[in-house]
Amino acid sequence: MTKKERGKGFFISEMKAGPIKSAEDILGKCVICDSCLGRQFGQISTGMTNKQRGCIIRGMLKEGPLEGTCEICEGLFQGGIREWSGKAVKRLQGLEYRSFVVGSRLSRDLVRNEEKLWGMAGISHCEPMKTEVNRELGKLICKKTGKDVDELRPDVVLLLDLTRNEIRLQVNSLFIYGEYQKLVRGIPQTKWETYKTSVEDEVARPVMKATRGSGHSFHGSGREDVDALCLGWRPFVLEITEPRKRRINLRKMLTEMNRSKKVNVRKLRYSDRKEVAALKSSRNDKKYRLLVQFEKPCRDEELKKLKNLIGMIKQRTPERVLHRRSDLLRKRRVKSLVWRRVSNKRLEIEIKGEAGLYVKELMTGDNGRTEPSVSGVLGNKAKVVELDVIKIEKVE
Ligand SMILES: [Zn+2]
Repeated sequence: MTKKERGKGFFISEMKAGPIKSAEDILGKCVICDSCLGRQFGQISTGMTNKQRGCIIRGMLKEGPLEGTCEICEGLFQGGIREWSGKAVKRLQGLEYRSFVVGSRLSRDLVRNEEKLWGMAGISHCEPMKTEVNRELGKLICKKTGKDVDELRPDVVLLLDLTRNEIRLQVNSLFIYGEYQKLVRGIPQTKWETYKTSVEDEVARPVMKATRGSGHSFHGSGREDVDALCLGWRPFVLEITEPRKRRINLRKMLTEMNRSKKVNVRKLRYSDRKEVAALKSSRNDKKYRLLVQFEKPCRDEELKKLKNLIGMIKQRTPERVLHRRSDLLRKRRVKSLVWRRVSNKRLEIEIKGEAGLYVKELMTGDNGRTEPSVSGVLGNKAKVVELDVIKIEKVE
């Protein structure tokens, strides 16, 4: 089929081949506008609007233009949509966005009218009313705002709800990717009432101010304990809900995030919801540095046994998190372990483990819930004095 065949001439000849009879039937029974008439034959050819199709059909049947309100769309395509587009643009004022998408809910009456039309003329060539509403409203908003329709990743969703006679605005979240180091102990990764601040608070504060969002969430690739430093760069995505502004100066944000010296952030860039899912499912190896205090002096002979810990570790969910996690047995690999004596009863241990390895429990044994453990192997009760994440390695 050539492009020309999709035009007016092609449409007329296809109509003449049969469908014109049902068009005549519709015109005999309904007060119907060009858009609603044309929409019933929307799939016959491309390259024109339903309104144009309806006009052509009317011409073919030597019918004059419609006087009065269409009983199918109840005037929606005779100026109603234009009015809604004005309301939509008003709602969008003061909002920064690049793209939008329109959705709609038809009233029960409109659905019934459409079904009546389908009952008369069938559905073999028609386009649903809802599709035309969304498209035509989208076109008008496009024209008035200069913004694009983006069906996949719109910044804004406009919902025309004709069951309630209102237009609703949903501003989609803004996502910002970054990587952080936590430079002080005693702050949690995400906001927590018990603590004055968190990595999330430090990172979100300047962005909230710049975007005037209604809230924020922090999606980290794993997390470190409140009392642990994180010297490795941990990827995260900051989500700002309902931002009024989306294009912000990320370099300036970075400077402000790093001002407190509690966190150090790098590589800020815009991101999306898809990356949050990828981040949550990523399994990174982590390297830790621990300062461990023992009950009894550690003998060099005994310490040689520590290398036996390299390999598979069986861990039941730690006692300290049992109140919020289910009791499971998991197997995690220790990939490397080196130690250095700090004093008679104190060691510095560097350990590399798979994602999900509980390293504190690997030291203490967690009352037999982690097997084997440093404490168990040495027969010497161990307590973690300091724990830092020193490297986060992406596993390919
Ligand atoms: Zn109509």
